[in-house]
Amino acid sequence: MKLTIVGTGYVGLVTGACFAEMGNDVLCVDLDPGKIERLRQGELPIFEPGLKEIVLRNAAEGRLHFTTDIQEGVRFGTMQFIAVGTPPGEDGSADMQHVLTAARAIGRHMSDYKLVIDKSTVPVGTADAVQAEIAKALAERGMSKVPFSVVSNPEFLKEGAAVEDFMRPDRIIVGVDDDRAALLMRALYAPFQRQRDKLVLMDVRSAELTKYAANAMLATRISFMNEMALLAEKLGADIEQVRRGIGSDARIGPQFLYPGCGYGGSCFPKDVKALLSSAAGVGEPLHVLQAVERANDRQKHVLVDRVVNRFGADLSGMRFAVWGLAFKPETDDVREAPSLVVVRELAARGARIVAHDPEAMDRAREALGELPGLEYAPSPMAALEGSDALIVVTEWKVYRVPDFTRMATVLRQPVVIDGRNLYEPAMMRECGLEYHPLGRPAVA
Ligand code: NAD
Repeated sequence: MKLTIVGTGYVGLVTGACFAEMGNDVLCVDLDPGKIERLRQGELPIFEPGLKEIVLRNAAEGRLHFTTDIQEGVRFGTMQFIAVGTPPGEDGSADMQHVLTAARAIGRHMSDYKLVIDKSTVPVGTADAVQAEIAKALAERGMSKVPFSVVSNPEFLKEGAAVEDFMRPDRIIVGVDDDRAALLMRALYAPFQRQRDKLVLMDVRSAELTKYAANAMLATRISFMNEMALLAEKLGADIEQVRRGIGSDARIGPQFLYPGCGYGGSCFPKDVKALLSSAAGVGEPLHVLQAVERANDRQKHVLVDRVVNRFGADLSGMRFAVWGLAFKPETDDVREAPSLVVVRELAARGARIVAHDPEAMDRAREALGELPGLEYAPSPMAALEGSDALIVVTEWKVYRVPDFTRMATVLRQPVVIDGRNLYEPAMMRECGLEYHPLGRPAVA
């Protein structure tokens, strides 16, 4: 099949590469000439495990191409994926301008049947808006008879495991109202579901809402556990034992029960906001989700609150090592990452910060700019040298089993403030470290 992917970001590039891997002919389009040029040179604009190999292989074998020319893109594929960004607007609602621009371009340049697939996360009703935009552009060209369908096919990949998730999805949601489109979608996804049928066909609006409901549910679990962790601390309980206790209940399950220093990334914060905004727009306030967002805003400050409790409000003259800048491991994405809040607040209190991340330091540099007192370390241990404490923000594997004894000697004060509960308190005590986990008793 011939596919065009409009928008070559995390989702567009993974989608394009994975469909090419299954033998399809794929053309990825992006407005950003720098991004397209790098891809043509075989350089990836993002870090994602396993992605580089399949991009390079499929480009070399002639199944994956890149362009900035939207006209070429529209002419190429029978299937037109819209995978552009839907960032939050000023009022929190999803900004639909990129989606509608892409739809308009499809209407302006198509001359035969197109199946238009909304892959971006978009509010309920967007497929109708895309349909209207294409129909309008066709009418302006006197080509109203050219047939097309619009379907919703939200993406559920996780950054850090995007290729794996795309290749082996739990389920494939397709919102579709006509048989021809349903047939094409079934054929396109057949190679991804050889062991069992993973396609969940539904109406378009339900598919659009399914994506937001899934992310809202996951964000709710995180905020719930974060609040339980704070409560456990106050009550002298251990959230890790509580987590294992409730996670073994089949109705609850073990995933997404890890307390931390707040959810971030390009999806949960923006999708929670967008769903709240959609709900308010139809007079149906979502009280639970409002609280989820408030709890998360508070949680992002928890680590600095701990630093202040331990070292005082004025941190001038002090230096802190920060391990982890990406919003989660295995990605270089720092959008809405808790690390940004931690670093900015420490800097605002006069501290010097030495940060380390295996993949996200370049992105963090762009996001944080020239912050006084902020430097980046070439290795985790280098960040500790001469620092007054270590603050763990992201649970990268490389931080999981550090040399604790060395850590205790390299740090100026052997204090570890852990936003991800990576370490065994008894081991920390044994190694002479003062340890402040989340939702568990501290070890002095
Ligand atoms: P991104 O910002 O990484 O990429 C979007 C790309 O679209 C950019 O490269 C941009 O230049 C390009 N673009 C914008 N307008 C364009 C146009 N008119 N024509 C061509 N290219 C255009 O975004 P992303 O993280 O890939 O997210 C895309 C969508 O997928 C969003 O709606 C997001 O919510 C959703 N989503 C993201 C993830 C994720 O983990 N990142 C997961 C599931 C769903």
